[in-house]
Amino acid sequence: MKFLIMGPPGAGKGTQAKILAEKFNLEHLSTGDILRSEINNKSDVGLKAQKFMDAGNLVPDDVLLSMMKNKLTQLRNSGIILDGFPRTVPQAEGLSKIFSSLESKIDYVINIEVEENALIKRLIERAKKSGRADDTEDVIIKRQHVYKELTEPLIEYYSSEIIQVDGDGTIEEVTHRILKRII
Ligand code: ADP
Repeated sequence: MKFLIMGPPGAGKGTQAKILAEKFNLEHLSTGDILRSEINNKSDVGLKAQKFMDAGNLVPDDVLLSMMKNKLTQLRNSGIILDGFPRTVPQAEGLSKIFSSLESKIDYVINIEVEENALIKRLIERAKKSGRADDTEDVIIKRQHVYKELTEPLIEYYSSEIIQVDGDGTIEEVTHRILKRII
């Protein structure tokens, strides 16, 4: 089974992706985590990605697409949950080509919705503990703008299949709302 989970920064998609990965025995592919580990390893991808991430910008589509093509090809026979990819319409188009070349497809597209002011509040709280270089207030606001401009259009792109879930509530409540829609 292939899942795609979307939502603005701070919506809790990483948290829900982990829970779903456990429940359905899926590989959790978080592009934010993968990119941070590439940066730690000082790999070519990491070196390319760092300046974009630190500024709250997206890493270029071609970098993401070749990285994800490799991962998805390696994991072609596994259940997967994609978290943080695609994040732009060209990435979604590229993903669709990758899946057709692997004779695979996305089974569920989940979008977690949370209102913008609540998101900024959550992220500023998270920033106190995360130690992430992109968790300063300016960069948090920048990431919301980038989301609106480049990622939100994916809701329209996937409109025929998208499962909209209200992300306001406890972790358990949101998980329950997702599960009600997919089983
Ligand atoms: P958040 O959900 O809080 O934005 P992530 O850990 O998912 O955090 O992503 C952190 C950063 O990693 C993004 O701001 C962006 O720079 C980069 N990134 C992650 N996924 C992608 C992607 N699909 N395309 C481009 N950049 C990405």
